[in-house]
Amino acid sequence: MLTLGLAGQDPGDWHQAFPPFRIAGNLYYVGTDGLASYLITTAEGHILINASYERDVPLIRAAVEKLGFQFRDVKILLTSHAHADHAAGTRLVKDLTAAKVMVMAGDDVVVRKGEPGWKPCPVDRVLKDGDVVKLGGATLTAHLTPGHTKGATTWTFPVTEGANSYSVLIVSSLTINHPQGLAHNRAYPEIVQDYERAYRTLHGLRCDIFLAPHGEQFGMRAKVARMKDGANPFVNPAEFGRYLGDQEKIFRARLAAGN
Ligand SMILES: [Zn+2]
Repeated sequence: MLTLGLAGQDPGDWHQAFPPFRIAGNLYYVGTDGLASYLITTAEGHILINASYERDVPLIRAAVEKLGFQFRDVKILLTSHAHADHAAGTRLVKDLTAAKVMVMAGDDVVVRKGEPGWKPCPVDRVLKDGDVVKLGGATLTAHLTPGHTKGATTWTFPVTEGANSYSVLIVSSLTINHPQGLAHNRAYPEIVQDYERAYRTLHGLRCDIFLAPHGEQFGMRAKVARMKDGANPFVNPAEFGRYLGDQEKIFRARLAAGN
């Protein structure tokens, strides 16, 4: 039986290639079927968000090249949060591209230290809430939205397509999958306050295009199937609010249940 994700899509195969595509303007999807990676292209090089697992890096590279870009032109590598499925390939991407690795404080220690099957990687810049990453006219803002990890990062930035400008938001993750849960979490005692902070921050944000580290979280495949129909299916200003409401309901229920 398939477990359906938040947007009714099955989680997909994390290590299966997915045809890369343009989401809007200079923003492209270069991830696998189940693990999202994003490329923001500029005349001065590119920004990549999420290296995924080391074994997925060749798929990301192939996706970038299939779009007609050079992988070595990736100048900055960012991440949604320091869990292996989004960040274990960080070192390999850095080795292949010499990209500057920028990670939110709290997650930077994890990237530097690595884990079994996850090579340690130097961090060139430690980010804090509200920091801005700039390259070739692209400006991305890092929002600290902790809880899922201590440095979980939501990215916002504008993209321009023809006469239209869209605000993009790539949420970090609000899933509660810490092995010690919310109540009495000895490994992460401030986890509840951190999730509360994430919700406060996210409630203050709006976007035209809502994205996330897994395609299932924003119904990627269904949208790709609708891309030929005319209006860009990724542009939906109501979607992020719905996602936030659904996640917060789960969070409040877990708090009330004390687990
Ligand atoms: Zn995660």
